[in-house]
Amino acid sequence: MMDLISQDKTHDESRQGEALVLDPIEGKNNGRKLYIESYGCAMNFSDSEIVASILSEQGFKTTGDFNDADVVFINTCSIRENAETRVRNRLKEFKVAKGKNPGMVVGVLGCMAERLKAKFLEEEKLVDVVVGPDAYRDLPNLIDQVDSGQKAVNVLLSREETYADINPVRLNTNGINAFVSIMRGCDNMCSFCVVPFTRGRERSRDPYSIVQECQDLFNNGYREVTLLGQNVDSYKWAKQPHPTLPGGEGFEEANEQVSPTGGDLEGAVNFAGLLEMVALIHPDLRVRFSTSHPKDITDEVLYTMARHDNICKYIHLPVQSGNSRILDLMNRTYTREWYIDRVDAIRRILPGCAISTDVITGFCTETDEEHKETVSMMEYVQYDFAYMFMYSERPGTLAAKRYADDIPEEVKAARLTEIVALQQKMSHLRLQQQLGKVQKVLIEGLSKKSKDDYCGRTDQNAMMVFPKDDRFKPGMYVNVMAERCTTATLMGTIVD
Ligand code: SAM
Ligand code: SF4
Repeated sequence: MMDLISQDKTHDESRQGEALVLDPIEGKNNGRKLYIESYGCAMNFSDSEIVASILSEQGFKTTGDFNDADVVFINTCSIRENAETRVRNRLKEFKVAKGKNPGMVVGVLGCMAERLKAKFLEEEKLVDVVVGPDAYRDLPNLIDQVDSGQKAVNVLLSREETYADINPVRLNTNGINAFVSIMRGCDNMCSFCVVPFTRGRERSRDPYSIVQECQDLFNNGYREVTLLGQNVDSYKWAKQPHPTLPGGEGFEEANEQVSPTGGDLEGAVNFAGLLEMVALIHPDLRVRFSTSHPKDITDEVLYTMARHDNICKYIHLPVQSGNSRILDLMNRTYTREWYIDRVDAIRRILPGCAISTDVITGFCTETDEEHKETVSMMEYVQYDFAYMFMYSERPGTLAAKRYADDIPEEVKAARLTEIVALQQKMSHLRLQQQLGKVQKVLIEGLSKKSKDDYCGRTDQNAMMVFPKDDRFKPGMYVNVMAERCTTATLMGTIVD
């Protein structure tokens, strides 16, 4: 995998394998130590917070050192083969630690659970417990089962589970930005992708619980939420009794609290409605979202973004390929022309909006000519950032069943190198276009390179570094004049 730019926080390379630490709550497992590390997308990191929350209710406390842990969990990603390889290597290290501490429980969570449960549990004997992404509520029982000397598995996928009522613990954060999961699973069946198999059917979370979580975050000092889903544009929630209130009481009350012009709680709430509901919490709460699907992103969403200054003008719109035949084989259900129409709509309705993307090189049967159409698409859109990958065949997917993975690795790699170089130029160009302009920046903290500088993001998600000024603290907004840039960062000074 080659991530050119790490500004799309949906998959943050610097957080891969990060361990999560929280304060203990008294309970049955009082004193037992949990170690949990996460791989993959932001959804996985967000799930680890749900797991930690469930187990802290049982009295577990967390540790940042797996050698010191009673329970070691690894939250896994299956999206490409190298993601799985990374997890396997880590499990071997845990096996060594377990050799020294035989009472240690080792578990695999998340996307690799279903596909590799037999291998992990029986063949390789690497783990004691395997739990899929919809079964985290069952973890306390499964740990009990392991404690009584058995192996434990629950990889059942659910059509309902959204963990809406679980208040995720916020860990390893700067107290300013938070991810909020608005839906789970995916119904799209892109032919290259394992997500529909590992995470199950798409389901949307109750908008009231989403607004409540964002409101709580704002009250606790957070100033930016990123609404997460595999395809946020297909978010849809139909009116039903509020699950946490007996007999649905409180539904009208909830309406009154959160209902804005776009939040049609009488009928269904779509993504545009939800965005508006969250944006109306407070003008100082920035709202971002990821991921948009080109087939589903509507003008209604774009006009909602235009109406609210606090909905950031940044859209992650994965193209995957610029060629219609390849898009058809990928089962993306849009054409090159459709994608261009959506980009044109963004440029028309939201001038200046940043656009980022995902691209796959060397998908089955892709010719040089077809690859050139991806290149020309990148030149047309002038993406601000891009995540670029070589195609990695995943067992069980439609592409693995139907098409030969017939593009040689060196061709995939050469095409990737070409587009990575192109994107580097485009990213630089897009940042250069910001020079001489004043940007509203949310201060996130000190710059990694110098404690004399602050860093924060512009509305368009570009990282800005500027000299620290004691009048302003992290979590505050400042106007910064962009004066210089590298290929990935703007540099400027406060002009307030
Ligand atoms: N739901 C999002 C969408 O449809 O755009 C993307 C989710 S996926 C976790 C993130 C990215 O991983 C995809 O956009 C795609 O570019 C890449 N990806 C997924 N499966 C892949 C595969 N088999 N080989 C290479 N890249 C893959
Ligand atoms: Fe995978 Fe496609 Fe769903 Fe994205 S939309 S998660 S690429 S199946």
